[in-house]
Amino acid sequence: MDFPKPKIPTQAVLSGSGFSLKKQPPDFPSILDANHNVFVTSGRIAITLALMDAKVGDGDAVMVPAYHCSSMIEPVIQVNARPVFYRINEDTSVDFQDLVKKCSPDVKAILGTHYFGFPQDLGSLRHLCDQRGIVLIEDCAHAFFGTLGKHSIGTIGDYSIASIMKFFPVYDGGCLASRNPLDFPEITSAGRGFEIKSILNTVENSLYYGRLASLGLFLKPPLRLKDLLWERFKKRRSQSGGNIPLAPGSSDGGYGLDANWLDKSMSRFSRYVMDHSNHRKIVEARRYNFLRIHEKLSTLPNCEPLFEALPEHVVPYVYPLKVQNPQGVFHLMKKEGIPIIRFGEFLWNGVDESICPNSVYLSKTVFQFPCNQALTDTEINWMTNLIAEIITNNA
Ligand SMILES: *Cc1c(COP(=O)(O)O)cnc(C)c1O
Repeated sequence: MDFPKPKIPTQAVLSGSGFSLKKQPPDFPSILDANHNVFVTSGRIAITLALMDAKVGDGDAVMVPAYHCSSMIEPVIQVNARPVFYRINEDTSVDFQDLVKKCSPDVKAILGTHYFGFPQDLGSLRHLCDQRGIVLIEDCAHAFFGTLGKHSIGTIGDYSIASIMKFFPVYDGGCLASRNPLDFPEITSAGRGFEIKSILNTVENSLYYGRLASLGLFLKPPLRLKDLLWERFKKRRSQSGGNIPLAPGSSDGGYGLDANWLDKSMSRFSRYVMDHSNHRKIVEARRYNFLRIHEKLSTLPNCEPLFEALPEHVVPYVYPLKVQNPQGVFHLMKKEGIPIIRFGEFLWNGVDESICPNSVYLSKTVFQFPCNQALTDTEINWMTNLIAEIITNNA
């Protein structure tokens, strides 16, 4: 079924607030505090590079959570390793007993995920990895910001990865962070077509949602040139025999992993936006929006928040809500243009109740609603009122 485009932005869009022409110092703990980092086009590329850097390959096993999206598993397949799924508890924490039970001698790496921005306690996992010489990869795709005890998020793992698109208003971007210097071939720009596409898509998305209004007056005519520009690029590229797409599927909501992008850097524009964003403002806005949504939805019938509170050190990616009649209400919400993210909706082939009942349950029942920094009070009110109405009337 075709649903209308969400009426409010699912991910952050570029706006005047929180963005400055002056470069901003990163003033909140984040994955950027790790010793070394490299910027690529997506989080899944960063996971793949971590596995490659750690020399994980043929015949090795990589432990991954049974609650996942396919872009966490494709990197394992890409390096010819075998995924081993460990259980998670009902609150998304690692089922450590199950993990230890399944941790065979061929396990070379373990992926730990900070779901929805809530940092996992990785202490036991770190200890196990140290004892057995296993590489720990911290998946911070949902947790760019935050702390774990006295450490910044992303500094417990040997490697950590982030998805820049999930926290900043950009078209492309992933970060690979590491404790030790990284050792792989140079990462270079994908070229002018990609760099321009990144700018135009970011600006277009922002204008669609009514941001940059004053700027929009100036930009709208040139944006009509966009299609023209594409035509020119495509023609030139087909003449030169180029058949690699201008941008990776990850930038347009796709799940696959395209190995052509392994050695390509994040666009210069994404880097510019990240460096010129006020991190503290992003953090405050996300927390504020999360709490506003929580206030409205946490006491409704027929549903239950996944997390009861928002501790100080948490910077949420989304607002996760367990819904009693997910099939019944999903279509109603989508028809209204409510943005819903369903992390883990499609589990990897073979991951079922026998592997992890909690993962199957969460993948069916948890809807995530945006709390990104671009949302206004009016937009949050519109969204939460509609959600409340639909959920209350459809038990
Ligand atoms: C989105 C996501 C990834 C992959 O990030 P992309 O930038 O989309 O490649 C990895 N892990 C988790 C938990 C994710 O949600």
